[in-house]
Amino acid sequence: MSSYLITGASIVGGEVADLLIDNGEIVAIGNDLDAPADATTIDGTGKIALPGLVDLHTHLREPGREDAETVLTGTRAAALGGFTAVFAMANTEPVADTAGVVEQVWRLGREAGYADVYPIGAVTVGRQGTQLAELGAMAESAARVRVFSDDGDCVWDAALMRRALEYVKAFGGTIAQHAQEPRLTQGAQMNEGALSGVLGLTGWPSVAEESIIARDILLNAHVGSKLHICHLSTKGSVEIVRAAKRRGLEVTAEVTPHHLLLTEDKVESYNPVYKVNPPLRTKEDVEAVREGLADGTIDIVATDHAPHPVEDKDCEWSAAAFGMTGLETALSVVQHAMIDTKLMTWADLADRMSYRPAAIGQVSGEHGQPLAAGAPANLVLVDPAGERTVVPSETASLSRNTPFDGMTLPGRVVATFLRGKPTVLDGKLTR
Ligand SMILES: [Zn+2]
Ligand SMILES: [Zn+2]
Repeated sequence: MSSYLITGASIVGGEVADLLIDNGEIVAIGNDLDAPADATTIDGTGKIALPGLVDLHTHLREPGREDAETVLTGTRAAALGGFTAVFAMANTEPVADTAGVVEQVWRLGREAGYADVYPIGAVTVGRQGTQLAELGAMAESAARVRVFSDDGDCVWDAALMRRALEYVKAFGGTIAQHAQEPRLTQGAQMNEGALSGVLGLTGWPSVAEESIIARDILLNAHVGSKLHICHLSTKGSVEIVRAAKRRGLEVTAEVTPHHLLLTEDKVESYNPVYKVNPPLRTKEDVEAVREGLADGTIDIVATDHAPHPVEDKDCEWSAAAFGMTGLETALSVVQHAMIDTKLMTWADLADRMSYRPAAIGQVSGEHGQPLAAGAPANLVLVDPAGERTVVPSETASLSRNTPFDGMTLPGRVVATFLRGKPTVLDGKLTR
């Protein structure tokens, strides 16, 4: 296997040093390293070396909606974004609610070889919210599922949610909740507030998210299991999670890049590229989720990469699908919203986008380890001074529904390595 020497890079959490990759591992970090004669040298001057990013919330759409994305195209997009591992949500067709489907997705990821794919299993059969899926069988499968979610829909039945938390407790699994009270959001199209009134679109109240988060934190405290909150989006949600953590209650939470940057004002354009679940919120909410991510109330950034083909997005607002792509822009958006604003450091970013998501997903043996000799060579080299303008037609994703179309964002992924093999070099896919 080839070896690579990255010279003079800023090693996140450490010093400026050279980093030698050989045989799938980081062999050494230091100065004047003794590299093999045939090692490929990469100039790391001015660049930052980070552990490979881990996305706990990706929609890869395969099986069933290969017109929107496949495991191959989605993981190519992931590699370009600096990710070495993604967790694939279960709302495929068929739903990933059996050992057979999760093993299929897991195997497709291995075959593609751009990023490790860890399937998330559905909580309920067919994501119908009535009967628990075969959680144990998915956990024992080759895919070794540890995170379960009906994402796209909320597990709204409190008794069923309680049983799911109890069931996964036996093997230390986690239930990831899409917190959306269904009765409070019937027909909802955008954030509820003054603007939804002006635009004549049915409002999606913050309390629809917050009431489920509060309920589930209390349910989980009763059961003593593991609860993760998907794409938290409101100021009130941050306050609830912060208060719970102060009381020592077990809960983890994520925020998406788009909720860290965009506000509901975008909806004034009636451009469905801004239609997303949960909806874009207010400036006050954006400030609160940024603060929550900075102080650790929100544990991680997760993309909720939700590719949709043109025909599902290029239509009138009310008919369009919810969702935005995010894998290729996540790092730049987080740099823009959190680092360039001095709310977080690059070491914090490594924590929120690599160490902690790997820990929540229970893959820390393979991903999300600090860069050090002996660790698997899963890493990304970023040029923080670089910038690029987002052009949807240049995406590796099969879908083009990026809300950052036309925006100039900071930071550029120079190289991504998965177990010592470059998936991206010079900002381009290697194959
Ligand atoms: Zn969701
Ligand atoms: Zn999602």
